[in-house]
Amino acid sequence: MSFAGHLLGGVQDDEVFGAIGDELRRQQSQIELIASENFVSREVLAAIGCVMTNKYAEGYAGRRYYGGCRFVDVVETMAIERVCRLFGCRFANVQPHSGAQANLSALYALASPGDTILGMGLAMGGHLTHGAAPTISGKWFNAVAYGVTEEGVIDYEEVQRLALKHKPKVIIAGASSYSRHIDFKRFRDIADASGSRLLADVAHYAGLIAANLYPSPMAHAHVVTSTTHKTLRGPRGGIIMTNDEALAKKIDSAVFPGVQGGPQMHSIAAKAVAFGEALRPEFRKYAKNVLDNSIAMANRLKRHGLDIVSGGTDCHMAVVDLRKLSISGKIAETELEESGITCNKNAIPFDALPPSQTSGLRIGSAAMTTRGLGMSEFEKIADLIYKTLSNYGKSGYSTARDEVRAEVSKLCKEFPLYD
Ligand SMILES: *Cc1c(COP(=O)(O)O)cnc(C)c1O
Repeated sequence: MSFAGHLLGGVQDDEVFGAIGDELRRQQSQIELIASENFVSREVLAAIGCVMTNKYAEGYAGRRYYGGCRFVDVVETMAIERVCRLFGCRFANVQPHSGAQANLSALYALASPGDTILGMGLAMGGHLTHGAAPTISGKWFNAVAYGVTEEGVIDYEEVQRLALKHKPKVIIAGASSYSRHIDFKRFRDIADASGSRLLADVAHYAGLIAANLYPSPMAHAHVVTSTTHKTLRGPRGGIIMTNDEALAKKIDSAVFPGVQGGPQMHSIAAKAVAFGEALRPEFRKYAKNVLDNSIAMANRLKRHGLDIVSGGTDCHMAVVDLRKLSISGKIAETELEESGITCNKNAIPFDALPPSQTSGLRIGSAAMTTRGLGMSEFEKIADLIYKTLSNYGKSGYSTARDEVRAEVSKLCKEFPLYD
């Protein structure tokens, strides 16, 4: 019986559970390098599939719009208490269904349509929700974007210049493909100078921040948002944190009823489990390994002669500049997937290729570190990436790829997942 079937003790719907089983086997048999992904624990999985999915609980613990909320109140209170301990903050909202919902709610609490917001440009490493044109953040606000320098690090002078010029209501510090430390204090100083509120979005770095391995924005930002499913290794979802009581009230109203209806209590239960895991000493060890592995993988790619945007990494991810190999991110992504290595194409700063092609590849260490791989295995993975990409289009390519596939399969058997 499949793992998914095992949870339910037998299933009727073979079509859907067949695909779930296939997805399980894909996860077990591929090297997962997508920087935003991870593998949750069995306890998180059990919570996400629990009976709390049946419960309506609009409102907040102790002040719900439905009866029968005693036990969901327990998990939501626990999730809040745990996440506040984890990040050292006074107030948290654990209801956002995703990181995008968390950001929309935070913007809804901090600004009004037509206001100016300043965020990192999508093509420079920022997230869609930080003001990109096709999103609500880009359409309902006057979105101004900052970027990175030629060296690939945040251009703080540009941030300051744009902030003083546009006096944005909100400055967003955070990124989806940026491998260096973010100087949140410098962002706060700029925000103070321009009369702006600072929103830090640590969706990617949250797990490392919880483990004190990446700078925390908590002392500097007015509001902090995050996903719960990236390095934090919880269920898919979002959180919003602050130390400001008045802002906390605004945020609660912004999430519900502002942006969302009933909270997904099964997901909140799973968040509580994941926060509990992240509070344990083993998680700090895990996060340290994530960081060591990421650096080892990036350094090994550099030794193969490839460039890493910004020259390296201070976190779980790196963006590989593929221009020296004369191969696009799109081709690299497809070819690596064929070899059993999953990652995603990504723009490099000032990319000459369109977003559908790109000149870069984003890789991350969070998921495979959960499977137990260490630095030597991550160096091996870098070798396999290089072997695939450097042989692409050459006569020995299919042999090279077969060899890579065999190595991938060996690694996956050596470090089993959900077996
Ligand atoms: C992933 C990410 C998000 C969005 O999270 P979703 O859960 O996919 O909505 C928001 N901000 C940043 C910086 C991210 O990397």
